[in-house]
Amino acid sequence: MNEADSQDIAERAQRAGYTVVDRPHEAAILVINTCTVRDNAETRAYGRIGHLKMLKDANPGMRLVVTGCLAEQDRDRMQKIVPHVDAIFGTQELSQLGDAIAAWRSEFGEIDSEEAEERALLVPIGGSGDAVADAYSHLRAFVTVQRGCSYYCTFCIVPHVRGRFDHRPMTAVLAEVEQRLEQGAREITLVGQTVNAYRDPASGADFADLLSRVAELPGLERLTFLTSHPKDFTARIIRVLAAHPKINPRLHLPLQSGSNPVLRKMNRKYTVEEYRAKIEAFRASCSGWALTTDFVVGFPGESDDDFAATLASCREFGFAQAFSFVYSPRRGTPAARWEQLSPEIGAERLRALNHVVDEGLLAHNAAKIGTTVRALICGPSKKDRTKLAARALDNVNVIAPDTEGEARTPRPNEPWLDIRIEAAHRWGCSGTIVGRARHFDGPARAVAVPVLDLILA
Ligand code: SF4
Repeated sequence: MNEADSQDIAERAQRAGYTVVDRPHEAAILVINTCTVRDNAETRAYGRIGHLKMLKDANPGMRLVVTGCLAEQDRDRMQKIVPHVDAIFGTQELSQLGDAIAAWRSEFGEIDSEEAEERALLVPIGGSGDAVADAYSHLRAFVTVQRGCSYYCTFCIVPHVRGRFDHRPMTAVLAEVEQRLEQGAREITLVGQTVNAYRDPASGADFADLLSRVAELPGLERLTFLTSHPKDFTARIIRVLAAHPKINPRLHLPLQSGSNPVLRKMNRKYTVEEYRAKIEAFRASCSGWALTTDFVVGFPGESDDDFAATLASCREFGFAQAFSFVYSPRRGTPAARWEQLSPEIGAERLRALNHVVDEGLLAHNAAKIGTTVRALICGPSKKDRTKLAARALDNVNVIAPDTEGEARTPRPNEPWLDIRIEAAHRWGCSGTIVGRARHFDGPARAVAVPVLDLILA
């Protein structure tokens, strides 16, 4: 959701005549898009805002803006803790943020002057979201279909900072997808806090209808969606997934816990048995798809038996990836007021769960060895600029040597990499690029595979 919002902010700024840069000291305006889903995200955001005071001191004309969930939650407190922040915009004030950025534009010089063009806007949110405007960012488009959530899980801050469900009209979603495709998007991700609870305000059409309408749009190459709730994962949705080959073969369905008493305390609105029945129906129609999930461990009241049930469910469902976290109390949520488990218990359970998760993901990744996958390029790897990073259809990271000098000359027009997989790791797979294609279902241009010369002395 935050990546989608960052993309939106960057586009509003570009329309107002700014350029997006990736070095904070070059920027006229710094926008920090924050998250507050866990305590460490909040601490990191405050740390980053604190660090930026040095830049602000060196360049008092620079504007420092904070937006996102932390801005919504801490609006008053933030003004006291980090008074060098110039403006704060909540999660439902993106258009006001865009208007303010546009209004400030004239302060930085004429739009067509060379000097003014060097002034810029930055969206430093950390992680992959930093790539809001690089040579490849248009290839993946996030299209928001719904904001907020009305489910009030007892651990979750989202309904408190983003409000209740607010569904976009289906006509607006379809129009935005068409626009993104015209701009060169190869993969569309429909984004919503609980995306499969979507309802078109005008017609009442549900997420299965929306998914199938988007999947049929001309020019669409790949389609995916985040994040689903098990309660709203219906037989109709499964039928659409099975019927449309352009939908990526990956389902992210957060289980959170394998124990019914814990799920009840979390207010998750399903049981393990109901989750299992849905997964069985899904696997029967969508064989070979990757199933991924989220877990929270160390939730208040989670007993050893509850946690053992979570480990058992993790083994049973064979997740291709699971994002696991120790429960983090969020101010204002019911679970934050309950008796807490010790951090040591949480850390120990996380270690044990990660061990089981790793078995599943390594098996999933190892199954690719010897195959060639078609993956959408992300750009040069951030860790090693001599390699290219891409994502396979099941969202697995794939890394391969950059044999054609992509770091010097980006080729987003040939964004599909055919990569022969040679090794599996916890973080993904590595291999060799053997081809590149303009379109997912198009022919590939062969890429010369590097050869190793053995010179015998
Ligand atoms: S369904 Fe998801 S977003 Fe909504 S309250 Fe629960 S965890 Fe939060």
